Amino acid sequence: MSWADDGETVIKSRIYASEKELDEFYARLKLTPCPHCNQTGSLIKHGFLRGYDHENQLQKTTRAARVFCSNRNRASGCGRTFSLSMAERIRRLFLGAESLWLFLQLVVSTGNKLAAFRQLDGPLSDSAPYRIWKRFVRAQAAIRAALIPLCSPPVVPSGNPESVTLAHLQKAFGGQSLNPIAAFQAKLQTFFL
Ligand SMILES: [Zn+2]
Repeated sequence: MSWADDGETVIKSRIYASEKELDEFYARLKLTPCPHCNQTGSLIKHGFLRGYDHENQLQKTTRAARVFCSNRNRASGCGRTFSLSMAERIRRLFLGAESLWLFLQLVVSTGNKLAAFRQLDGPLSDSAPYRIWKRFVRAQAAIRAALIPLCSPPVVPSGNPESVTLAHLQKAFGGQSLNPIAAFQAKLQTFFL
């Protein structure tokens, strides 16, 4: 099992493709080694991440939760926590992976960030599309580096770097039940942005 590191807070995180997978993880909690101290038997549920619902008001069925390696009541864990995230969730963003995928595709095809964002039908601040786009542009090198072991980048005639990255995602993860961004996060256990 691999773990994603949350760059901001340096919390280890496990990314789940579905609620079913998350429930299965919970069911095996007592048999699962802690990602910090590698001990088995001391993991317990530790509530949901705060602000999650607020940040993800456009998403339908997503949760993120914390797990605690208990050192209380004579438990011998390390006292640290880690988080469980759903692949549909994008860190520090109120858009889910599906909406983000749609937004990025629209920007690449139309060149108009604001118009693309308005099609998402969500709470809107006029600076949000530019911020989100900038995050994507900054993340591109890491996204491509993660995709290359899966498949070679497609040839996009006269494509700009952004359209090549999206086409690469589509090539690697198109045609699955998850959208390519959620599939990227679940398969690679790393955050897209
Ligand atoms: Zn531990």
